[in-house]
Amino acid sequence: MSEALNQQFPCAQCGADLRYAVGTEHLVCDYCSHENIIDIEHTPIQELDFRQGVADQISTEQLETTQVAKCTTCGAQVQFEANIHADACPFCASVLVTDTGAHRHFKPAGILPFAVTQRDAQQSLSKWLGSRWFAPSGLKKYARAGQELNGIYTPYWTFDADTTSSYRGQRGDVYYVDRYVTVMTDKGPRRQLQRVPQIKWTRAAGRVRRFFDDVLVIASKALPSHAADALEPWDLHAMVPYTESYLAGFRAEAYTIDLRDGFAAARGEMDLQIRRDVRFDIGGDQQRVESVDTDFGDVTFKHVLLPLWIAAYKYRDKTYRFVINGRNGRVYGERPYSAWKIIAAVIFGAIAMAVFLGALYASGALDQVVVGNGQFAFPTNDPFFIPGGGQYYPRGY
Ligand SMILES: [Zn+2]
Ligand SMILES: [Zn+2]
Repeated sequence: MSEALNQQFPCAQCGADLRYAVGTEHLVCDYCSHENIIDIEHTPIQELDFRQGVADQISTEQLETTQVAKCTTCGAQVQFEANIHADACPFCASVLVTDTGAHRHFKPAGILPFAVTQRDAQQSLSKWLGSRWFAPSGLKKYARAGQELNGIYTPYWTFDADTTSSYRGQRGDVYYVDRYVTVMTDKGPRRQLQRVPQIKWTRAAGRVRRFFDDVLVIASKALPSHAADALEPWDLHAMVPYTESYLAGFRAEAYTIDLRDGFAAARGEMDLQIRRDVRFDIGGDQQRVESVDTDFGDVTFKHVLLPLWIAAYKYRDKTYRFVINGRNGRVYGERPYSAWKIIAAVIFGAIAMAVFLGALYASGALDQVVVGNGQFAFPTNDPFFIPGGGQYYPRGY
C-alpha cells in the first residue's frame, strides 16, 4: 500500500516543497532554486491482463490506496491535500467535500508529464477568449487574473487487443442499364434514353483481423467524453513509467470509470473500426453488414495519467470549463455569451442575421464550443486508420 498521491516532496537543501519543472526531468525548489533529478525507471511500461484485472486477480503491487476529496456536484475524486481546507473542485468550481476516506485502485502504470507551462496555458486561455468577442468582458477579466488554472493529472485507461472477426453481409456492385424515361422540356414531356444505375447484390462472408494498440479512453466522469475527444491526440509514445515525483506541485484525479466500463467504451471504438475493416474486406460499391462476431484475444490494459490544465468558473450560477492538453496546448472551452454584445451585433447587422443568432442563442446550440486547429483526428473514409495506432491485416493474412 502506498500513500503516493498525498506525498510531499521536501527540498533536500531547505525543506520547502519541491515542484516538477515542466518539460524537464527534475524537481525545483521555488525558494532556494535547488534542483533534484527525477529517478526515472528505464523499464518498459507494464501491460496487465484484462481478465485478471476484472476478476481481482492482480497482484497487490499493482494496487494502491489514496485519500481523496470528492466533489458531490460532478463526481470528481481528487487528491486530498491535508493542508488545504475549503477547496474548490478544479472541474466544476463547486466546494469539495474533504475527508471521504480511502480509495483503493490500480496504481498508474505510466504518466505523460506536463510539457505546457502554466504561463503558456494562461496565454492560450487569454488568446482563446480574446478571439471570442461574444464572451462577456467580466469573464475575460476573470480569466486574465489567471489564479484558477489548475494542473491536474487525469486518469485514462488504454487497452490492447488482438481481434479476429467473422462476418456475413452483402456486396453491392453498380451496373448501368439503358432505359427510356419521360423528361419535361420547354416543348412539353418527351421520352429520352438514359443510363440508369442499378445495384447487383451478392452474398459475402469472411474474416478480418486487427491488433489494437493503446486504445485510449478517459476514466474520469468529471470531464465529458466530447471534451476529452477534443483534446486528442496524445503523444502516448512519450509515456514514461509512473513516478510520484511528476506529481509534485500538481494534483491527480482518481479514476471514477472502472476497468470494466472503461473496456466497454474502448470496445465501442474497436467495433467501429472493425466494421470499417469488414466493409473494406467486402469491397464493391456498397456493402450491407449483417453480422460481425469478434473474438477479443490477449486483452491487456494500463491505467495512465495525462496532464490537463483546467479552469472551471461559475458565471451567473452556471459552470463553464476551459481545458488545455498539457502536452500540446490543444484547447477545449465552454463559455457564456454576452447578451449585450449580441444585441449590439443585431442592431448593426441585418435583420435576417438577428433572427438567425437569436434562434441559435435560444436553442442552446452555442453553449458548448469545441476549438482546436481545425483538424479532426478521424478520417472516416480511411479503412487503414485506427485511433491510437495499430496494424491492419489485409485479406488472406
Ligand atoms: Zn530549497
Ligand atoms: Zn466538481
